[in-house]
Amino acid sequence: MNELDFDLMVRLIACGLYEKRQCNDKYSYSSKLFAGINRLAALAAVNEQYDMLSDLHECAFIENYAVKPVKTWFERWNSDFVKSVEKFDLYHTNALIELSENRRYTLTDDCVDLISDSEKDYANDLEQRYIYSLLTNLTNELYVAVRRFIVENPICAVEKMSEFKMEHCQDFKMINKIFSEAYENVPNGSYVCPKCGWTMTFYGAQAQCCNKSCLKNIPKKDDLKPLRFQDGNWRLRHGVMRYMCLPGQLELKIQKIAEKCGCGAELWPDRDKYDVKITLPDGQVWAIDAKTHRNPYMLKKSIEKDYVFTHTKAQKVFYVVPDDCLTDYPDYCKICNDALASNFPDSIAKCVSMRIFSKELKGEVEDVKLRNYQKKS
Ligand SMILES: [Zn+2]
Repeated sequence: MNELDFDLMVRLIACGLYEKRQCNDKYSYSSKLFAGINRLAALAAVNEQYDMLSDLHECAFIENYAVKPVKTWFERWNSDFVKSVEKFDLYHTNALIELSENRRYTLTDDCVDLISDSEKDYANDLEQRYIYSLLTNLTNELYVAVRRFIVENPICAVEKMSEFKMEHCQDFKMINKIFSEAYENVPNGSYVCPKCGWTMTFYGAQAQCCNKSCLKNIPKKDDLKPLRFQDGNWRLRHGVMRYMCLPGQLELKIQKIAEKCGCGAELWPDRDKYDVKITLPDGQVWAIDAKTHRNPYMLKKSIEKDYVFTHTKAQKVFYVVPDDCLTDYPDYCKICNDALASNFPDSIAKCVSMRIFSKELKGEVEDVKLRNYQKKS
């Protein structure tokens, strides 16, 4: 089995699960899911996994396989086959969905990461993609202002939106369109997530937010702040929250740290060529891309194709990931850095946690000051 075929199978299944969930009808049909399951069935047949074969129709697949990590699909297969696939990145994909009530399901972070990184024609109706395409209609300055507004306001009151629209009244129509696509009504009974600022909702005792790390060590429901109407009656749509606002919060944090160190920090330079352009006091430029993939194998997959950013003209080039990504995967950065070294041996790009990044920046700024001081004396 070659890796491309394996990737295609997992991606088809992920995109199919997304497609199926988009139509609210539970009998809806996805040709991608069908094609992906068929590929798995063909593989099972060749490997004489007859028990599994009888389970590979859509319903059984969703209930028995999509809810489990990909590697468990091959648990009882012969060891030669497992050896051949365990070196593939997508073999390390976690469960693609979580089942909720009434046989409905929600997509996991890994599943959505896979879809977002896939070629455009897999799922070109992803919410955040559409917002990006609308943003490109704006001037540079307004592009940054609107994107920043979205990142700073995961929940928003209608007055605040109107105020912003009036401030930029010459582009009122376009901004109106972007906001109406980016935001939706807050569901009843929402709380404010203490971690990301989006809505936290409950199904029974089970809390839900835009990503798994929000759900670790959350306070009891009674200790959370219920969302009042005056706090905001609009929230970002899930995809926009997860794929624009969440990385955006990290980008703003990086900007703040850089400015605190006395550096210049420009968000989304040149129409989002990358995320933050830091200019040190001696004129060095550091290029930053903030990433929020929870699974390092998903980030590895996406940076292996990223020729443009890994070859940015700058003194240092970083992929920065949140510190808590390393809790689940202590080797997170090593997995990505090994991939960078083997795919782009000529690139200086590296993957670091937020903590290591700010340490390195502070250290460099100190060195610059010292060099300046030595020059003067
Ligand atoms: Zn949250």
